[in-house]
Amino acid sequence: MRLYISDLKKEEGKFFPFNGSIKLEINNGKNAVLDVKLQAAYTANRVLVKGEWQVDLEGGCSRCLEKSTYRLKENFYEEFIHLKGPAEMKEFDRGLELEKGEKFVFKGELLDLTEYFRQSFFMSQPLKILCQNDCQGLCPVCGVNKNREQCQCVQESVNPRWDVLEKMRGNL
Ligand SMILES: [Zn+2]
Ligand SMILES: [Zn+2]
Repeated sequence: MRLYISDLKKEEGKFFPFNGSIKLEINNGKNAVLDVKLQAAYTANRVLVKGEWQVDLEGGCSRCLEKSTYRLKENFYEEFIHLKGPAEMKEFDRGLELEKGEKFVFKGELLDLTEYFRQSFFMSQPLKILCQNDCQGLCPVCGVNKNREQCQCVQESVNPRWDVLEKMRGNL
């Protein structure tokens, strides 16, 4: 996803809308498409970028392991500092750099946001995916999916410490 600085400079300080999609390779070899809606403005040697991205992902529910689709959304607001000089393809081959871990900087007449959004996506992946917020999960005894079936299992809440005590008593 690329922004041309000359487009933004037509009217400094004004936000222009851009839409784009970025193909992501997720670790299991599957692809997902990040849909990005943003507004960008050029002002005082920096590009301001704000908007929202979303992506539909397939995954297994953390509780019941059912395959489910979920939508991940994220808002962003970022500043990219436009340094003087021509783009240095070696150093800036991704279009931007993080300087001292604080601000993104770039050179040249093109701001490539692909890597920025790729990283933004990988940093916001949820640790837990749920097929529904009140997913009942699997019965730990018989393994049925409790969202769909009721089972008669009694869940014994055995504290493993008691096992140790029982063993010790047996040994005495
Ligand atoms: Zn579930
Ligand atoms: Zn059960």
